[in-house]
Amino acid sequence: SNIPKVVILGAGYGGIMTAQRLQKDLNYNEADVTLVSKHDYHYFTTHLHMPAAGTDALENAHVPISKLIDEFKIDFVKSSVKEIRTDEKKVILEDGTLSYDYLIIAVGGETETFGVPGMHEHAMFIRSINSVRAIREHIEKQFAEYKKNPERKELLTFVVGGAGFTGIEFVGELSDRIPQLCRTHQVDPSLVKIYNVEAAPTALPGFDQELVDYAMNTLQKKGVTFKLGTAIKECKADGVLLATDEEIKSATVIWTGGVRGSKLIEEAGIENMRARVKVDEYLRAPGHDDIYIIGDNSLMINPANDRPFPPTAQMAMQQGPVAANNIVASIRKQPLKKFEFHNKGTVASLGKGQAIGVVGNKKLKGFMAAQLKKIIDIRWLFIIGGISLALRKGKFL
Ligand code: NAD
Repeated sequence: SNIPKVVILGAGYGGIMTAQRLQKDLNYNEADVTLVSKHDYHYFTTHLHMPAAGTDALENAHVPISKLIDEFKIDFVKSSVKEIRTDEKKVILEDGTLSYDYLIIAVGGETETFGVPGMHEHAMFIRSINSVRAIREHIEKQFAEYKKNPERKELLTFVVGGAGFTGIEFVGELSDRIPQLCRTHQVDPSLVKIYNVEAAPTALPGFDQELVDYAMNTLQKKGVTFKLGTAIKECKADGVLLATDEEIKSATVIWTGGVRGSKLIEEAGIENMRARVKVDEYLRAPGHDDIYIIGDNSLMINPANDRPFPPTAQMAMQQGPVAANNIVASIRKQPLKKFEFHNKGTVASLGKGQAIGVVGNKKLKGFMAAQLKKIIDIRWLFIIGGISLALRKGKFL
């Protein structure tokens, strides 16, 4: 048939928003839409620090895709993307091939290790439901192991590499989780060490200083030791080597040192910077009017400071509907809409009942900020799954 084929790669914040908008806006038989994802569930990346530390159940961090899209209108394909062939307008999957007229790349980013040796081999990453399950089980196992080998203090030492928002949110949860684990395994809490190692001279580089100080204070009181201005230069099987040549012996290294774009982008030969693509104002890849790139793989410059916008869920959520709108407009030969980012603010949790945030020109900290963080998470559930999903997965006060 000559019905245009639209293929969406990825079912994260950007992909789900695009799919939902397309299913709403397209008329019957106006396009064939296929959504591809390697998992048959969507997961809440902004919530992963909790199940990673074990302070919330994994079930609260994901939802089946079948509950989010109308499978009469969108074909869902559970598969892993191996290659994007832009010249042939084809996507190669692990078990098949899809051709497209319009492609939306929303596969999310990957962990950036900056080439630090040993990181891929020995550290764990907060990236997916599976990686987070592994982290939680690993942490629990260290306590059990310590009971059998009480001379091995490194089993109770936890190193978090990077004090960006991911690292900060994770140490907040981990410090809440430790007392529970100590009780369960009858371990003296004073033996447990949590190090958050950051290369920059400050935690949360670039964020409001007063809120950074508040966050560090809160976390230090909960037992976190910060090592600032200290890069990790190697990760080993038995800990980390710092730029100062000091070693921290640890059986657990969680790396939260940064994100980059996907290898798929680099391999597709699309012009990129660290696998991120500087998209045009309509969210298209340069030189490819049929390819939209949203989320962590897109790169847009903030006109206010001439720096790239950070890759966030909020950005992907806003880009999805515009990409969908522009594909529908292209099919209908109507003018495209320009994307404009509306910053709704940043809120980061510091563990139970504590958070920091900036919304507009207002600074928030403590309990109010923590409530706001919950509202933001529940709002996402509501947007994609309506009140029933919000009630089922949302944790109300
Ligand atoms: P990030 O890039 O923001 O932070 C990584 C940190 O690791 C940086 O501070 C960097 O200096 C440090 N680092 C890099 N190499 C290091 C080394 N060798 N040794 C020690 N430290 C090193 O990454 P992130 O925290 O994963 O965040 C990714 C994106 O997601 C960001 O845009 C962030 O704003 C966003 N995010 C937002 C929230 C929120 O709003 N609540 C939560 C998590 C992530």
